[in-house]
Amino acid sequence: MPQRAAAPHAHPLVVLILIAGGAVAATSGCWSGMGSVNGLDGWLAWAGRLTGLLAGYACAILVTLVSRTPLLDRGIGSDRLARWHAVIARYTIVLSLAHMVFATAARIDGSGAGLLGGSVRLIVDGPELPEATVGLALLVGVGIVSVRKVRRRLPYELWHYLHFVTYAGIFLAYGHQLLGPDFLGDPLATALWLALYASAAILLIWYRFLTPVRRGLRHRLTVAEIRRESPGVVSVYLIGEHLRELGAEPGQFFRWRFLTRGLWWTANPYSLSAPPNPRFLRITVKAVGHHSRALAGLRPGVRVWAEGPYGALTAARRRRPQVLLVGGGVGISPLRALFETLPGQVTLVYLARRDEDLILRNELDAIAAARGAKVLYTVDETPGSRRGRAVPLTGRSLRALIPSLAMHDVYLCGPAGMTTAARQALRRAGVPDRRIHLEQFDF
Ligand SMILES: Cc1cc2nc3c(=O)[nH]c(=O)nc-3n(C[C@H](O)[C@H](O)[C@H](O)COP(=O)(O)OP(=O)(O)OC[C@H]3O[C@@H](n4cnc5c(N)ncnc54)[C@H](O)[C@@H]3O)c2cc1C
Repeated sequence: MPQRAAAPHAHPLVVLILIAGGAVAATSGCWSGMGSVNGLDGWLAWAGRLTGLLAGYACAILVTLVSRTPLLDRGIGSDRLARWHAVIARYTIVLSLAHMVFATAARIDGSGAGLLGGSVRLIVDGPELPEATVGLALLVGVGIVSVRKVRRRLPYELWHYLHFVTYAGIFLAYGHQLLGPDFLGDPLATALWLALYASAAILLIWYRFLTPVRRGLRHRLTVAEIRRESPGVVSVYLIGEHLRELGAEPGQFFRWRFLTRGLWWTANPYSLSAPPNPRFLRITVKAVGHHSRALAGLRPGVRVWAEGPYGALTAARRRRPQVLLVGGGVGISPLRALFETLPGQVTLVYLARRDEDLILRNELDAIAAARGAKVLYTVDETPGSRRGRAVPLTGRSLRALIPSLAMHDVYLCGPAGMTTAARQALRRAGVPDRRIHLEQFDF
């Protein structure tokens, strides 16, 4: 397929500057009114106002970051967006709790009421405060189940669906925000705050809920064929209508919802393992749990909803004519599609535990021969391997392999442990961070 013009995408630094600028603008009233603050209750009220505004602003940003807006997703990448979301979520909870403590303490300090009784009466009697308190409790609850130790014990889907409670929490807390001193009697500030929340809600509803339904009806994707690639790894071929309109690029992934018993209620991410084309899409999946294992048993004709395309591991990231692709295990999937289509001089290093884990090898060899590129297979268990060659993931061994490595763009994909080790080795070999393009297979 001919190369498509790169889709528009937002630069991560620009997005961070916009987020920080928005936070300064949202709290400008606080900063300008600082000079007239007096006494302990005055300072407590000021701190309550500042933390409340920041927490309210952060809630709108949180929702926007998970809205799966293509502009953000293509520019920042889903994995980085998820990490930003997790960090901002922690700040939101801390700021919300601080806001509650400061605002309550300020009013009690002014009224002379007892600490516990005064706090409870304030919350129960205050307009919109009972709702806001329930909202905060929901946010804290989601925060607790997201702590790594707790999250590991929950099935992914349960954790994922519990996250929807966040929206209810944010909705419940919204009403009391407009009763604060920054909005009462200021229609412009109220309208801007409303616009901020409305934009976040519209992006979320449009991209996360309506777009998948609209696309499901338009493209009518179905499973065409299942092919076994190696023990525990299958490729799923999907056919449908108007596939070109999906706008997918090599290196991207979709969240796939297979409308069959036991699978319809979850949408899991899998990358395209062949360049998307008007005839079919293909994913290559390693069985690790319920969803990925079940794909081997899919029957042709099963309907599929594909949410996406997502991901920033595309040709748009390339800055240099020389490219190194480093894939680990089933992380080869998106790199296989890029290997065929990326322009320039491309080298592929493919790491796996054992010889039989090296999948799609015939295709990779054929692509390498067709474009005169170099492929290097490297397996951990060297003695048992037939063609594998161990290349340790160190800066020195990578530089020995490709002397001009520091001049390359590097696309890296695989499990977390492997990508972390590879990233360190690449940095040591002189490749700057901005030219290491990474997709991790775990969020
Ligand atoms: C961007 C991206 C692209 C991926 N591409 C591929 C690919 O091309 N081939 C491949 O074999 N694997 C790919 N994966 C990994 C694949 O999504 C998981 O292995 C699979 O979803 C596991 O689900 P399970 O029910 O089989 O196993 P489980 O045991 O339920 O899950 C194992 C782990 O997979 C992750 N996971 C599970 N469900 C989801 C979900 N809905 N969304 C995000 N993460 C989830 C969680 O970290 C979980 O702990 C990709 C992952 C990501 C994030």
